[in-house]
Amino acid sequence: MAGRSASVPSPFTSIRLILLLVVGVAMGSESDSKIDIGKEWEKELRLPRDVVPIHYDLLLHPHLHNDTFYGEVNIVVKTTKPTSHLWLHVKHLNVIATKIYRGKVARGSETDKESLEVEEAFEYPLHEFWVLKTKEEIPPGVYTLAFEFTGSLKNGIKGFYASSYRDSLGNTRKLATSKFQPTHARWTFPCFDEPSFKSTFKVALVRPSSKYSALSNMNQLSEEEGVPMDGFTTVHFNESVPMVTYLACFIVSDFAHLQGQLHEETGQVVRVFAPENKIEDGRYALDIGINITRYFEEYFDIPFPLPKLDHIAIPDFLGGAMEHWALITYREPFLLYNPETSSMGDKQRVATIVSHELAHHWFGNLMTLEWWDDLWLNEGFASYIEYKGVAQYETDWDMDTVFLADDLQRILRQDAGLTSHPIVQVVNNPDEITELFDSITYAKVGASLLRMLEFFMGPEDFRLGISRFLKRFAYKNAVTSDLWNDLTQEWKRKEDGLNLSLIMDTWTRQMGYPTLNVRDDGDHYVITQERFILNPNDTFDPNESPFMYRWEVPLNYKTSIEDHEDEILWLHLSDESLKIEKPEGCEWIKLNVNQKGYYRVNYPEDMWRRFAELLVDNHTALSAGDRSNLVDDAFALAEAGKLSYEIPLHMTKYLKYESHYVPWRAAYVNFADISSKTYTLPFFGDLRSYLSRLAEPILNELGWDVREEEGLIKRLLRSHGIHLACRNGHKGCLEEASKRLKAWITNPEESIHPDIEKAIFRYGMMEAGDQKTWDALWTRYLQEENSQKQRRLLYGLGFTREPWLLHRYLHYLKNTSLVRDHDFLPTLQSLCLNPVATGIVWDFFRSEWNYLVGRFTLNERILGRTVPVITQDFITPFQLKSMERFFADNPEAGAGARARETAMESVRNNIHWVRSHAPVEKMRIWGYSLFSLAFIGIVVESTERMAQEDFLDGTTDRRGFGWHNNYNYYNQQAGGYGYGHGYNPYGSYGAGGYPGGYVEIKDLGRLLNICVAVLPA
Ligand SMILES: [Zn+2]
Repeated sequence: MAGRSASVPSPFTSIRLILLLVVGVAMGSESDSKIDIGKEWEKELRLPRDVVPIHYDLLLHPHLHNDTFYGEVNIVVKTTKPTSHLWLHVKHLNVIATKIYRGKVARGSETDKESLEVEEAFEYPLHEFWVLKTKEEIPPGVYTLAFEFTGSLKNGIKGFYASSYRDSLGNTRKLATSKFQPTHARWTFPCFDEPSFKSTFKVALVRPSSKYSALSNMNQLSEEEGVPMDGFTTVHFNESVPMVTYLACFIVSDFAHLQGQLHEETGQVVRVFAPENKIEDGRYALDIGINITRYFEEYFDIPFPLPKLDHIAIPDFLGGAMEHWALITYREPFLLYNPETSSMGDKQRVATIVSHELAHHWFGNLMTLEWWDDLWLNEGFASYIEYKGVAQYETDWDMDTVFLADDLQRILRQDAGLTSHPIVQVVNNPDEITELFDSITYAKVGASLLRMLEFFMGPEDFRLGISRFLKRFAYKNAVTSDLWNDLTQEWKRKEDGLNLSLIMDTWTRQMGYPTLNVRDDGDHYVITQERFILNPNDTFDPNESPFMYRWEVPLNYKTSIEDHEDEILWLHLSDESLKIEKPEGCEWIKLNVNQKGYYRVNYPEDMWRRFAELLVDNHTALSAGDRSNLVDDAFALAEAGKLSYEIPLHMTKYLKYESHYVPWRAAYVNFADISSKTYTLPFFGDLRSYLSRLAEPILNELGWDVREEEGLIKRLLRSHGIHLACRNGHKGCLEEASKRLKAWITNPEESIHPDIEKAIFRYGMMEAGDQKTWDALWTRYLQEENSQKQRRLLYGLGFTREPWLLHRYLHYLKNTSLVRDHDFLPTLQSLCLNPVATGIVWDFFRSEWNYLVGRFTLNERILGRTVPVITQDFITPFQLKSMERFFADNPEAGAGARARETAMESVRNNIHWVRSHAPVEKMRIWGYSLFSLAFIGIVVESTERMAQEDFLDGTTDRRGFGWHNNYNYYNQQAGGYGYGHGYNPYGSYGAGGYPGGYVEIKDLGRLLNICVAVLPA
């Protein structure tokens, strides 16, 4: 659970707090004399249910010249019990008038007749409340709360905020825009800022009369020029459908737009807004957006309810996009697509994000979760359904297989530690709520578990259940169990005894997932389950979980003889095992066909070997999804100590025949992870040489020149192949990257295809990253207007090997006129992919902590998530200590509390991994004597223990764990590897120390050696 923390107040807030304090002191004696009965607002973080908002009548006037705004709001509320105190949310606002009226009173038509006397109104900052006390107790009924307020457009890029861009003439143009989810509507107007309150909104926005337009969720009703003053126009919008505060959106900009129609009959207009010089890049989003909206209308069997639908590219935007009802805001590169400047990955991202935000219009906007602890209802569904939206438009993208690479396998890694969390979470304060918007919630339940649910229900029953649920809760709020009820109603092939609610609770109310262990008893395949834990040393108490860390597991399978993909079997949490009859002559059984299930599968070792052989002989005997699944499971099981690394390494040999991106991606991610843990270790060179040779067939087959007619799968594979080869020192690859970068720098006419631009910037910079190259790239960045290209340039700049250039880069990054707020943290994170930069970034992050918190606030989850990214390659106890020390010195983590825990766990796992697999250093010095001592068991044992203790308390140095592993190695040797057939990566060392070859490490290095030998040179 995250600790509560107040974010750092802006200067504006501080002044206001001081004023409040002064007033408080003046009023002190009077307040103290009153008997304190209640102060309910101090007891609960959540608003009471006996005051319910019905309608907002809101005016906002952004002052673009000085980054402030003025606002008025009348909120009609219904109270259900007598009271003299009412409170609602306010933060970062200067409330200048607080009034209350009897009945429903429109803004601007208030009269004294309805007015009730307000005795006092004050802020309770701890709970972000504004409290109003009436002179007399008021009976239950309908009232209007009226506020006048001012605020700043410069509280970071949240709430109502200012953004800017350069037009084609190079002039800076400003706009005001908003982003409220989850708790930032209260930064813009006093409101009941919780998801269970749905109200109608009548909005008026003031814009400069010339060139500017105003946008909100609804279509424009009318406008008054010269109101409230010359040069300005007040725009009035139609009253909205009932919606929650976080979906409201207000934008005043001078953007251009493209326009299409959802349906001719209904006249519903779809528009894409962007700066005029980029508006043509909105064409793809417009087309796919209209198509997907129509598809979702059919899929959910519910028409899109609002009269218009806008998508808008915002120059400064934290996060990817936000599903504001009918006014979807996007970070610019996630909406705009231009085949000349965008990569295939960019296009895929635009398609999936547009689809995701549109899916929210049904999941989340029409039906809204009751409270944030069911956030997955919102994010989970959108993250799964987005694939369906894209797949029916981009039919050759193989989206269901791509899902494995982009969501499922990624999240299986994250959810395998002890610091993960169940997706159903209890959250209360704003930091906890913000923190919940992490990838476990988004992708895991939303996507992976729902995909599994659809698999066991069948796609049509699943669709009918969802549709029923959405119709029942349209314009209302729901909780998880409501969804289970509706799905159960439509689950036609449900067998007796199955309970959907129980099945899903085992997946949503405990963290993690199982491994299914397969055993061959001669006549049957016997399947059992156990919790999968990445670190073999971690222990856990099953009693922590209501289900003892056991799951209701649906599964399908195919064998070497038969295909049972569509047959659903169940391994229940109370079952000891599940038996599947083994057909005559059957060689293997592959469970979890196309990886529909959210679990891993471990096979008997000889079956793993058969899979490895099968893949080499005829890899198309299994689908791309299954191939990818086997590779990913094998690596994960090896990491968890459940399988020898020999298996996944042998398995990857088949990749020289693989032409599908998704299995490659599984290998790529796992190798990248191993590389990041071993890049300081002696056998790293062998790993690199293996990987660079593995990637060679992709380079040879696909080359560097992108052909537009190639599909997504091929194009993603090319860029991965180049990354894999260059990253691992492939000479030809690095030379080519460096050559292309130089040509591009010297000749402005030279272009690099966007698909391979990232690779060329990165590896070209690594190869030729001197000051001249760096400065040339930086100058290009400063001149660049295209945000996708800007991102790639910022990324590439981080790969120089010159420490002083990296230091200077960090200095440049802090300059907000050079690098946008939203690019700062992602660039800091990508810098850590450069091993030379990691230490520099970690020093920077710690020494500039106060600056970072001041700039982004502790409530910014991306700041929190930067910690695990910086430290992901840490492998020593000293590095772990440096983290512990920093966290102890700066205990307030805000929305980054869990990220810190995850980071520590992951470094502890790395340390353990290195202990188990890392080789000996200083062999020449220590090798011979240790070799002799190894035969004296007692010495080995006691030294082993000593080294281990040293290691664990972090006092030993790198040589220390060299010793430790050295002994480990000999112990291992006694267990059976034998000395003779190892190899000696340090030819010269071996000669000096002892006779014969030397197996460098327990497992990994030896096998790499075999792999290197097997692959053609
Ligand atoms: Zn979402």
